[in-house]
Formats: sequence, C-alpha cells, structure tokens
Amino acid sequence: MRFVLAIALAFATVSAFAEAADKASEKGKEMSAKAVNTVCPLDGAKVEAKVAPVSGKTKEGKEVSIGSCCAECAGKIKEITDSTAADAAVANKKMEEKVEKKK
Ligand SMILES: [Zn+2]
Repeated sequence: MRFVLAIALAFATVSAFAEAADKASEKGKEMSAKAVNTVCPLDGAKVEAKVAPVSGKTKEGKEVSIGSCCAECAGKIKEITDSTAADAAVANKKMEEKVEKKK
C-alpha cells in the first residue's frame, strides 16, 4: 500500500513541476479534461467544462482535445472529418475567424 502512495506522490510532484508554468497563467480557467481551447470553435462561446472534449487532428496531424460549449456543438465537431475544428481549437478561435485569417 505504502509504495503506491509513494509512486502517486512522486508522480504528482513531477506533474506539478511540469504544469507549474501553465497553471500560473491558466489558473482557475478550467477544471476538466485538457481541451486545448477555451472558446467553442463553432460559435465562439465559452467552453463548458462539463462537456467532454472531442478529439481531432490538426492539419499537422497532431491529436488534440477540442472543447465546446455544449453537447450539441460537441456532436457537430465530431462530425467534422477534416482539421478545421482542431485547427480552430488550437488557435482558440471560431472557425469563421480562422477563415478570415485575422491576426
Ligand atoms: Zn458551441
């Protein structure tokens, strides 16, 4: 039993170290799974932590978790087979804004 706790502690320490920098700026933003975005790619609404992120691939082929504002958006994002939603999520923007190529 004890070694399990020790491993858990060691892991927690390593994780805490790795995430310390992130946490400083992300503090209190979200509690749930690691969606890469905080803005729904479909409508620009705030990502709802209770909605399970959808996994998708960016045009670089990187797998990311795409957060969304509601189950309905999550369902629509699931149906998107190209990288649009993932790219928008990484950019943390609505898809439309991405198309505009706003900088
Ligand atoms: Zn949405």
